[in-house]
Amino acid sequence: MTTPPAYRGRIAPSPTGFLHRGHAATFHAAHERARAAKGTLVFRIEDLDPQRSRAVYAQAALEDLRAAGIFWQEGPDVGGPFAPYVQSQRKNFYLAAWKKLRDGGFIYPCARSRKDVQNATQAPHAEDDAEPIFPTQWRVDTAEALKHETPAGVNWRFKVPNGETIKFNDALQGEQAFEAGKDFGDFLVWRRDDVPAYELAVVVDDAAMRITEVVRGADLLKSTARQLLLYRALGLQPPGFFHCPLVLDEHGKRLSKRAGATLLNPARVG
Ligand code: GLU
Repeated sequence: MTTPPAYRGRIAPSPTGFLHRGHAATFHAAHERARAAKGTLVFRIEDLDPQRSRAVYAQAALEDLRAAGIFWQEGPDVGGPFAPYVQSQRKNFYLAAWKKLRDGGFIYPCARSRKDVQNATQAPHAEDDAEPIFPTQWRVDTAEALKHETPAGVNWRFKVPNGETIKFNDALQGEQAFEAGKDFGDFLVWRRDDVPAYELAVVVDDAAMRITEVVRGADLLKSTARQLLLYRALGLQPPGFFHCPLVLDEHGKRLSKRAGATLLNPARVG
């Protein structure tokens, strides 16, 4: 009998604003799950978007979480064998994954803009995370991909297996199922401004950091289905998932980083 790998969790804020109570609830859960399993918690800064990320928010996140009693064993301020833990310093890992996906025929270069997609599709349903589905007639033959030595200059999309239902068992929310091509379409893995997309970066990092359970907000449930397709395409073993309920404000709206009163540390001024 083989022993299962020791628990490794992570907290992975995007430094695009000060943390609010919703983040705190999720990160508390991540901390608690790792502690209960006598595991390791990794802190990773998801600062790939140069337009929105600020060093001051990354620093504030480290301080506010420590002040809230959340501690981690690996991360930018404690070091460790898998450093760096700052996504903007990990471009080579993402590039290697992009090459693998390109060579495997999983992705294609796409010249359509977000506006094109919006114009071509019907208005999405009222659900929070509804999104326009990328029209399949705009797919580009994946053979085109091999003409590109590097990803920069054009968007790259993952060709989803239309009609396949992606299932997973969430440790908190139970059985989940999303249909490729219906619940989500061909999604971005790399942006034309040479920034790896969230879905790709998070899969590469969770695998490289040997994360055994991902604890995050329920707004990312559908993203998990996309990410499972990436794990499969890259030949990587996916972790388990635990999606926390979203914290809502008194009007039933999701908390936003701009809502000052709900900040984890109210002394921060947005
Ligand atoms: N960086 C993402 C956020 O702050 C979380 C990503 C994840 O946990 O997978 O919303």
